[in-house]
Amino acid sequence: MKREFAVIGLGRFGGSICRELSMEGMEVMAIDHDEDKVNEYKNIASHAVIADSTDEASLKELGIKNIDHVIVAIGDNIQASILTTVILTDLGIKKITVKAQNDRHEKILNKIGADQVVHPERDMGKRIAHSIISNNILDYLELSDDHSIVEVKAGRKMRGNTLVDLDIRANYGCNVVAIKHGKEINVSPSADDVLKEDDVLIVIGSDKDISRFEKHLV
Ligand code: ATP
Ligand code: ATP
Ligand code: CA
Repeated sequence: MKREFAVIGLGRFGGSICRELSMEGMEVMAIDHDEDKVNEYKNIASHAVIADSTDEASLKELGIKNIDHVIVAIGDNIQASILTTVILTDLGIKKITVKAQNDRHEKILNKIGADQVVHPERDMGKRIAHSIISNNILDYLELSDDHSIVEVKAGRKMRGNTLVDLDIRANYGCNVVAIKHGKEINVSPSADDVLKEDDVLIVIGSDKDISRFEKHLV
């Protein structure tokens, strides 16, 4: 059976989620209280409807209860975002993802039962900051408050060396979990594989250790 999604709030973020899910062939109900926004998604989403998501009766009427996963992408109006999330949790929606506008908003959303809270502006800012530090840093993913994963191109200092030569674990406290070369990915890199140009290392560690690694080796 096809999974059904609803996206509430069709700004840049919600709109992009709605487009992508639809392109992947998912059933998506697009909801906004702004008629113009809804019209934009008439031909993209499976259904596009005008509704105020802070109105419980309207959400019920839309049959939101039968939807597996609801994404709340209301940004500026924090009160509307919180009210909508409370209504959805009361209705017993299986999975609720909500976009947070700031750290306090994020805390509240977690407390009232959002299953997943995302903070795209903050997270994208962090990722871009890391890619600015070094051209070799391709991606950065936060695992927890103080642990992350980075994807780094084998820099000048790494090429021609093995993982043993570099001794990344002892020197930087980080672990290389995989090495990518083109489309191939080696998920159990051996200690004596020689790193080549264009190799990409996937490295996991504490933020402090990764920061040292980024500054010295990348
Ligand atoms: P983005 O940065 O993703 O463009 P934003 O963070 O600036 O968006 P807003 O523009 O405030 O967020 O809100 C996104 C959308 O949510 C808007 O299209 C807005 O009309 C819609 N929206 C806000 N409140 C409600 C509500 N109560 N019910 C339905 N839609 C709402
Ligand atoms: P967000 O990343 O939070 O979604 P946004 O896309 O909504 O941000 P704005 O809030 O409009 O963008 O602008 C971001 C910041 O840029 C604000 O702090 C604003 O004060 C600042 N800013 C806007 N115009 C100028 C300017 N001409 N000179 C300096 N700073 C500016
Ligand atoms: Ca915004």
